[in-house]
Amino acid sequence: MQIINPATEEIIQEVAEDTPETIQEKFQLLKEGQKQWAAVPLAQRISAIEKFYTLLDERKDELAETLTREVGKPIQQSYNELNGARRRIEYFIKNSAKWLAEEWITEEDATREKIVYEPLGIIANISAWNYPYLVGVNVFIPALIGGNAVLYKPSEYSTLTGLHIQRLLYLAGIPENVFSIVIGKSAAGQALLDLPLDGYFFTGSYRTGKYIAEQTAGKLVPVQLELGGKDPLYIMDDVDDVNAVAEAALEGAVYNAGQSCCAVERIYVQENIYDKFVDAFVGQAKKLVTGNPMDKKTDIGPVSRKEQLKFLAEQVEDARQKGGNIMSGGTTAKGSGYFFEPTVVINANHQMKLMTDESFGPVIGIQKVKDDSEAVQLMKDTPYGLTAAVYSKSYDRAEKVMKQMNTGTVYWNCCDRVSAALPWSGRKNSGLGATLSYLGIRAFVQPKAYHLRG
Ligand code: NAD
Repeated sequence: MQIINPATEEIIQEVAEDTPETIQEKFQLLKEGQKQWAAVPLAQRISAIEKFYTLLDERKDELAETLTREVGKPIQQSYNELNGARRRIEYFIKNSAKWLAEEWITEEDATREKIVYEPLGIIANISAWNYPYLVGVNVFIPALIGGNAVLYKPSEYSTLTGLHIQRLLYLAGIPENVFSIVIGKSAAGQALLDLPLDGYFFTGSYRTGKYIAEQTAGKLVPVQLELGGKDPLYIMDDVDDVNAVAEAALEGAVYNAGQSCCAVERIYVQENIYDKFVDAFVGQAKKLVTGNPMDKKTDIGPVSRKEQLKFLAEQVEDARQKGGNIMSGGTTAKGSGYFFEPTVVINANHQMKLMTDESFGPVIGIQKVKDDSEAVQLMKDTPYGLTAAVYSKSYDRAEKVMKQMNTGTVYWNCCDRVSAALPWSGRKNSGLGATLSYLGIRAFVQPKAYHLRG
C-alpha cells in the first residue's frame, strides 16, 4: 500500500497490507494476551498508559511531522492534536480507577450486592484519519485500561501514525499480545468484521458505520459508532462582537481544512446582522494562508483525499447554480497537491447540497434567517445529530434553541470543541453510544452483578 503526501502527491513509503490470514494470526495471539492483561492490576495498566502519555510528548516533533506528511494537516495543528490527545489520556489516567472500581450497592440484612466491571475481551478499533490521535485515544486508551486487548485498524490514510502509536504503546509496556495494528483498506476492516470479536468501536463515515452495524448485528456484542455530521451554527442579532463571532465561526468551519466531524458545516445569521457578519467573515476568510502544511504560518493545508476535490467542486457548483454567491475561493488550487481554496457561499439555502450533505472540506454556506424559530427549523433539517452551536448574549434565548436540538452536543458561544470530561456522542446518522467522560470508560467493560448471602 502506498502512503502519499497529499501536499506534494509524492509517495512517502510503501507498507505491506495485512491479509485475512495475518489478521487471524494476530487475533489468535491476542486471545491469550487478553486474559493475562485482564489479570494485571488496574494500577499497573494505568501506569503503562502514563508512560505512553510521556512518550507522546518526548517524541512530539517526529510524530507531528509524520502526521502532517501523511494527512496534510498544518504542522501547528498536528502539535495541537498531540497536546489534545495527551489531555484526554490524562483524564482517563485520573478517572478510570474511580469508574472501574467495584461498587457495593446493598449491604443490609443477610444479602449483600455489588457490581464488578469486567473487560469485554478483544475489541476492534476501526478508525478515521482526520484526527488519528484524538479519535484513537478515545477508544484504545480506555479499552486497554479496562483490561481489553485491541485490534487497532487505523485508516489507510493515517497508517504511519498508526505504526507510531503501536511502537510507543509497546515501548510504554503494553504487551505485543495485547495491542495489534491491522494495516490496510476496507478489506482489512472487513476481515475484522468476520472475526468473533467482543466489541466493535468505529469512527468514520455514516455509510461505513451503518454497514458495520448491519454486519455485526448478529454477534450481539457492543457496537459503537462515531460518525459524520452537518453541524449548524446560529448567530442571533444580540451578539456583542460580530467580528469575534465571525472569527470563531470561521475557525470552526475551516480548521484542519474543514475535515473535522464537528466542523461548523452551515451557518445561519439573523437578518439584522447578516450583512455585517458576512463582511467580517469573508474579509477574514480571504486572509487565510493556504499552502505548505510544514510551514508554521499555514492556516489551510491540502485535503487528505484526492477524491474530495471533485466532491467539493461539485457542491460549490451546485450551490452556484441554485443562487448562491461565491465570495471567496470556489476551486481547486493550481499546482501539485490536493488543495481546495477556502470557499464562502452566501445566500445559501437547503436546496443546495452544500447545506445538507457533509462537506468535509474548507467550504461553508451562510443563510439569512428571520428569527429563532426559522433558525431552529433549518438547524433541525438534517439526518445528522452530532453538534449544534448558538451565539447570543442571552443564555435563556440560546437555551430555548439548544433544548430543541436532537444532537449529542450543544454549544453556547463556542463551537467545534470536545471535552474529555463530557460524553462524545452522535444521534441519528451521527452515531451510536458515547466515548469520553465516565460513559466512555464504562463503554469498554461489562457489569457483573454479585448477589451474596452468607
Ligand atoms: P471511512 O468510513 O471511509 O473509513 C473509516 C474506517 O473504516 C477506515 O479505517 C476504513 O479503512 C474502514 N473501512 C472502510 N470500509 C470498511 C468496511 N467495509 N468494513 C470495515 N471497515 C471499513 O471514514 P473516513 O473517511 O476515514 O473518516 C471521515 C468520516 O469520519 C467523516 O464522515 C467524519 O465526520 C467522521 N468522523 C467522525 C468522528 C466522530 O467522533 N463522530 C470523528 C472523526 C471522523
